Amino acid sequence: MTEKGKKHENFSEWYNQVIEKANLTDKRYPVKGMNIWTPYGWKLMSLIDAETRRLIEKADHQEVKFPLLIPEEEFQKEADHIKGFGDEVYWVSHAGSTKLDVPLLLRPTSETAMYPIFDLWIRSHADLPLKIYQMVNVFRYETKQTRAFMRMREIHFFEAHTCHVTKEDAEAQIKQDLEIMDSLAKKLCMPYLKLKRTDWDKFPGAHYSVGGDALLPTGRLLQIAGIHQYLTNFSEAYDITFEGVDGEHLPVHQTTYGMSERLIGAVVAMHGDDNGVVLPPTIAPIQVRIIPILYGENQELMDYCDKIKNRLSDTRVDIDDREDIRPGSKFFDSEEKGIPIRIDVGNRELENKELTLVRRDTGDKTTIPLSELETALQELMNKMQDEMYQRAKEFLHKNIVEPEDISDIKEEKIYRIGWCGTLRCGEGIEESTDRNLLGTLYEGEEFKGKCLWCDKETDTAAYLCNTH
Ligand code: ZN
Repeated sequence: MTEKGKKHENFSEWYNQVIEKANLTDKRYPVKGMNIWTPYGWKLMSLIDAETRRLIEKADHQEVKFPLLIPEEEFQKEADHIKGFGDEVYWVSHAGSTKLDVPLLLRPTSETAMYPIFDLWIRSHADLPLKIYQMVNVFRYETKQTRAFMRMREIHFFEAHTCHVTKEDAEAQIKQDLEIMDSLAKKLCMPYLKLKRTDWDKFPGAHYSVGGDALLPTGRLLQIAGIHQYLTNFSEAYDITFEGVDGEHLPVHQTTYGMSERLIGAVVAMHGDDNGVVLPPTIAPIQVRIIPILYGENQELMDYCDKIKNRLSDTRVDIDDREDIRPGSKFFDSEEKGIPIRIDVGNRELENKELTLVRRDTGDKTTIPLSELETALQELMNKMQDEMYQRAKEFLHKNIVEPEDISDIKEEKIYRIGWCGTLRCGEGIEESTDRNLLGTLYEGEEFKGKCLWCDKETDTAAYLCNTH
């Protein structure tokens, strides 16, 4: 066995090891940046997707599936979009040995696949709003070092696309998307900043973009969501219009909301420890594992474990009943997989009609009578969920600092700085600190200070940080 990577000494090594030990992905597929979803990893992703689906459908979106391949001419219609994605696109140029008349590309995102069709779907005012989403794989030729869940070339992706009559309707959609993101982030115990990106860092083709950025233990931010206001930038390029009350054809206003498997990467990075992954109870594929502390055969003890399991029909629970494995190794395995709650059952528990609950995140143990099983377990999972979220939130806020001067910017922190809003100063700050100016809080905030670059008075605070 290799030496364990320590989270706070070598994050990259630690991250790779805990993912491998939990068996969340298999990296042995012979195409770089394309990993295999293992049953455990896919179950985790599916539970996150199920929560996303629940929230987005509650907000009146309908699920669709568009084709993977996009014709070149459709892709070329929105100039900024091509500039942003052009170098990352995989092309399909041949069918067998025959060169295709129209080259096709693998979707890097689906605007250019969907929007020519939206033009056919939308006729009048009555067809709006159009609110759809899909969960599909997208392909982007990453040139940076790939990393499981965080930077892949084949990416499991969620994308919602909406069309509206007015700009105000589209703005309301963005607010609703952020509420959905808030709810999901709670389930993932993943506080984040909603940052309205600078103009030079927005999504290609967008009027503005809001990034959802989570702080990893490295002190660097990872973008886990992107919400974009397009106004009519795409609808004019793709001629998506509706007939207004006076019979005139007007372009629709559009938004998108995207997330990916990075959500898993962020959860692992944020909550894992030196013993492995730690998963929040709400999304854990196995929420509870019962471990019989067996020395030799003991049918009575096994029956007691079955009885506990059968009572927990609303919980994702299993029993580690492997006979040739010592209890110590089973505890270790449960920790590596990040299973939130362990139920230890030995002879003492059997005799006293008790069980011992062990929390994965803190290691705290409590022994409870069997009669209190369901309520005690639910309370403990709720408490763990809340405390994981609170710990992550404290970590985020503790790491936002205000520098006195540009020379103070040395550490891996989030720097809250004054910024006059100009490109010139933004670039100056980014270049001299070698960090990204990630934008301003979407919801706004009170600020009185001076631009870190030109010293001009400003009421705008911006956030400067390294990113993953
Ligand atoms: Zn300035």
